[in-house]
Amino acid sequence: EKLVAGLGKTRDNIVSGMDSIFHGFSRIDDDFYEELEEVLIMGDLGVQATYDILDDLKAKVKEKHIKEPMECRELLIESIKEQMDIGETAYEFENHTSVVMVIGVNGVGKTTTIGKLAGKLRAEDKKVVIAAADTFRAAAGEQLKEWANRSQAELIGGQEGSDPASVVFDAVAAAKARHADVLMIDTAGRLHNKKNLMEELRKMNKIIDREFPEAYRETLVVLDATTGQNALQQAKEFNDVAEITGIVLTKMDGTAKGGIAVAIHAELGVPVKYIGVGETIDDLQKFDADDFVNALFE
Ligand code: GDP
Repeated sequence: EKLVAGLGKTRDNIVSGMDSIFHGFSRIDDDFYEELEEVLIMGDLGVQATYDILDDLKAKVKEKHIKEPMECRELLIESIKEQMDIGETAYEFENHTSVVMVIGVNGVGKTTTIGKLAGKLRAEDKKVVIAAADTFRAAAGEQLKEWANRSQAELIGGQEGSDPASVVFDAVAAAKARHADVLMIDTAGRLHNKKNLMEELRKMNKIIDREFPEAYRETLVVLDATTGQNALQQAKEFNDVAEITGIVLTKMDGTAKGGIAVAIHAELGVPVKYIGVGETIDDLQKFDADDFVNALFE
């Protein structure tokens, strides 16, 4: 399966390390837990999630009177799954008239993600409108056009340098006129200029509030998993300026840092909704914590 294959490097990084601890120790002691801690932290699960997971594991070991390190494997898998379980992850934007704002810094895979999502929605016979509101990058518009053509979505573009809010205004009008199911808005994620970013998002949101109050709203942040702790930092910064409803983690296929998905859940409480495990349309997958952990420990 694609997920299992895509997580290969992360598996090598985290699970191989764990298994050598499970095999290498003859009893469960402080050294054992310390080495597990190191593997989890090196695996980008983050300090907070690592401590929570290990506390939970210790409690389970005690409660069940476990003596053999190997018996901890299943318990650890359970603890990681529980750590990632932050309730139902809704994909309501697939079922309502929805406006999905997509933010993320350049190069993380934002355009590709919008293209893949448009393709998925089109395959489900949904009507999709894409707003090219990242008017700072001419290349982004061209690339979006290609993806839009491929998935037969309608693209509403702006001139380079034009006001993103006016592109959103036009796109909302088009989405309403065509009775679109989903309007996706590609935005410029200029984190280095937080004040501008905030102001831009505020203007766009105001237009949607006013022109399309009945729409279901979603704000997705796209993060590049290969950047590990940087991705987590970006997520936190975007969380400060926008009401994030979900995360898309791209490039999981090329990285050993897939553990960052666990850290993001733990530290932001925002669900990872999709992961990218390659460059084609089929490589964008709905994220499911259980499937993710199972694929990892395959
Ligand atoms: P943007 O600047 O954020 O819009 O980034 P792009 O969508 O242009 O993507 C940057 C590069 O990352 C492109 O070469 C994409 O093909 C690649 N990319 C995006 N998502 C994935 C993924 O899930 N896996 C892999 N391997 N590459 C990806």
